[in-house]
Amino acid sequence: YKNYMKLEFDNKSQNEAFARIVVAAFASQLDPTIEEISDIKTAVSEAVTNSIIHGYENKSGLVTITCRINADELEIIVEDEGIGIEDIERAREPLYTSKPDLERSGMGFTVMETFMDYIDVYSEIGKGTKITMMK
Ligand code: ATP
Ligand code: MG
Repeated sequence: YKNYMKLEFDNKSQNEAFARIVVAAFASQLDPTIEEISDIKTAVSEAVTNSIIHGYENKSGLVTITCRINADELEIIVEDEGIGIEDIERAREPLYTSKPDLERSGMGFTVMETFMDYIDVYSEIGKGTKITMMK
């Protein structure tokens, strides 16, 4: 890879804006368009929000973001050590949410898929979730 960075922060909602700005700043060295930067920010927001809200629920924990630049492609990995996802296929379906009461629309994964070129979801119950995205 050409460049690498790793960011670790508490699962506090105020860190979500911080995280997306850091990733956007790192991505800027690829000379992205404004639209590409906006897509990256949106996808990172969704993944980080999921870790905070679903991964840890009301417990404290850490969210880690790793970014790598390979040629002219950015790889972003968002990880938590939370509860994990029981059924990944179902979780990725548009409109599926396990928290309809919290005004969730179940569109986070669909947004990530739409705005990024590639997304992989790896999760283990009780161990955590790892989202890999490329653009
Ligand atoms: P929205 O993103 O539209 O606010 P949502 O978060 O429920 O709603 P998705 O982001 O698509 O929708 O996620 C779908 C479901 O996958 C969640 O409701 C949750 O059950 C599960 N999920 C997603 N990310 C995680 C995670 N990091 N840890 C545990 N469960 C997760
Ligand atoms: Mg979500």
